[in-house]
Amino acid sequence: MQDLSLLTWNEVKSLDKEKSILFITVAPIEEHGVCLPLATDLIEGEQWSQGAMNVIEQNSGYNCYYLPSFPVASASVNSFYGCIHFPMHTTYLVVKELLESVINMGFLHVVVVASHADPEHQIAVEKAIRKANKKYGECVIAPMGAFFSADEIGLKRDVSNEIRKYEKEYSNDFHAGWVETSCMLAIDENYVRSGYEELPASNITSRDMISKKKQIKAMGEYGHMGNPAVSDKHIGELLNIDSARYIAEATLNFVKRQNYKIFSHYFLYDLLFMHMGFLPGFGRVKRKKVEK
Ligand SMILES: [Zn+2]
Repeated sequence: MQDLSLLTWNEVKSLDKEKSILFITVAPIEEHGVCLPLATDLIEGEQWSQGAMNVIEQNSGYNCYYLPSFPVASASVNSFYGCIHFPMHTTYLVVKELLESVINMGFLHVVVVASHADPEHQIAVEKAIRKANKKYGECVIAPMGAFFSADEIGLKRDVSNEIRKYEKEYSNDFHAGWVETSCMLAIDENYVRSGYEELPASNITSRDMISKKKQIKAMGEYGHMGNPAVSDKHIGELLNIDSARYIAEATLNFVKRQNYKIFSHYFLYDLLFMHMGFLPGFGRVKRKKVEK
């Protein structure tokens, strides 16, 4: 795999685009509770993309490239220190323009890794991808929306029993809980501040995630939604491998243009009122003095 931005223009020109896959992580700089850094989603997206690129290059004749991550994202809770969010329309425009740029260079297989589960972000990214694919033919897939809504869309996932056990016992872990803290412990323990073992669990259902009020209530004084106290490095290793394998599977299906549609849809995209955020009045990110 290679960082595309370290090539020269004529090197990019001469790449065999039929045999090239371009990965782009699009995720926010935002609060991740009191024990994880602001760049958590970017670090995870890069880790999972790298894992996927390894799997793909070992199992197929494709060469993988990636761009530096784009720290552009939408989210409904903007009131914490460290949150840099954009309106859904901005995220949509950035992703759409970015895709138009790389598609016009001839890239036929582009993978957007939107490693941030907020519905606003997933919907904005999916809209941009639909637009680009409609205009240029199917060139792009963003598999994380389906990953974050596997149960709801009936996507069968082949995950290890250890993860299944955790998911059953500590369900609804959405933000800076055991999933993300474990993933970060596995990437580099130095990313995780001590004290996560003592943090109280905070509960919210996936349906309630569409309500900003309910999210803020669940985040309380710490900022997480889930159960960081039960985080575990070994589980994190399994989760990172699982995410990478999932992205690789979706990508390999996509490059063959076979059975890939199931990997390209986020379950809340179909709710019309979730698209209100694209309207200038509704979609504004509330800028006021940060209190939390
Ligand atoms: Zn996150």
